[in-house]
Amino acid sequence: MFVFVCAGCGADLTGPLSQVALPVHAHQKYGNGTQLPVLMEPGTFAVEPEPWGPPWRRWAEIDPDEAEARGIFAPVHGLSDNAPGAVVIAPGEAHGTVLNPENRGSGYCCGLDGAGGPNMACAACGQPVATRIDDCSLWQAVWLDPTAVRRLPFDGPEAPLLSWAELVKSGEGTPPFEPITRWGCRPGEEKRWSLWSPQWEAAAGRALAHLLVASDRRPVTVPDGLAAEVFQRALDSLLPAGPPSRHAVLAGPGLPALDADADILLVPAHPQTGQTWTPADSAASAYRVPLPFGVWQSMAFPEPYLPVPTSGRMPAGVLRDDYPLPPPRYHHPFQADPEIFRATLVRLPAVRTPWLREILDNLTRNMQAGIF
Ligand SMILES: [Zn+2]
Ligand SMILES: [Zn+2]
Repeated sequence: MFVFVCAGCGADLTGPLSQVALPVHAHQKYGNGTQLPVLMEPGTFAVEPEPWGPPWRRWAEIDPDEAEARGIFAPVHGLSDNAPGAVVIAPGEAHGTVLNPENRGSGYCCGLDGAGGPNMACAACGQPVATRIDDCSLWQAVWLDPTAVRRLPFDGPEAPLLSWAELVKSGEGTPPFEPITRWGCRPGEEKRWSLWSPQWEAAAGRALAHLLVASDRRPVTVPDGLAAEVFQRALDSLLPAGPPSRHAVLAGPGLPALDADADILLVPAHPQTGQTWTPADSAASAYRVPLPFGVWQSMAFPEPYLPVPTSGRMPAGVLRDDYPLPPPRYHHPFQADPEIFRATLVRLPAVRTPWLREILDNLTRNMQAGIF
């Protein structure tokens, strides 16, 4: 475990925290005017290995060789010149800090979006130490500035590293849809939409980039059920039709041994280490497409009937005859997060092949066509 302290004066800025993998949706921008939950679990932190946050340089100002040296092989909107290693925590874990309301930054809408750099200072010495983000459509978080804080080991009980079997047994999947609250709804007039989960859209954005690379520009089939709902439409639209196709299958702990004809494996990434599950058998050479553990768990072991958010209550004297509840209906077919798709694809060297680069260059058109 670690505590984070102010690099300037040494004051504590957090309690003891355990490191977990950076969520794939950490930088997601979801919907319009929606209120997203807190990104990180209590008692945890994650590290962004790449530079993130202002100052940004636009793509036109960047030498492609420099981008390539940073592991980026196709155009992005911009590159951050901030220091790498920002630490993200739940806002409730930040102690000894004060908001600096003067630095609201640009792009401020319903709250703080952090675009102007650190907006929280050390309460003891006044040094800027962190960026609070709580604007609409962004995950609520505090990002500690890697140059303004120090990480110190804390002598306490370490959160145990869970085995794959223990993770499966915990049964904590990420439901494919969830209620999303519009910003500023007051209690009582709450408008709740049942939408595809932002976490699923983010997870699919990353996975789809890998699936395309793994496809080798051949049609890809994914298993029926949620995997098909999430991936098949986009794969059919972005890849040529006709045989021979490549087979993607769900693989991981608790699932039966793999078929020999599986070319691509949809596997879980460990929530604590971020490492992807690896099969022990001959299928080890198949391309492994990472899914966040909770999404993978819900895809691999779907619940027969998912909980549906309810509003209001049944009038007195009315008896329900619609139990068990039917599966929920979605407002729209599934769409993967386009920016997380882009962020993943530009970091895969295969994006330099012309057909993949074309998909990237046509991303806006693909979004207009409803694929993303
Ligand atoms: Zn807003
Ligand atoms: Zn300080």
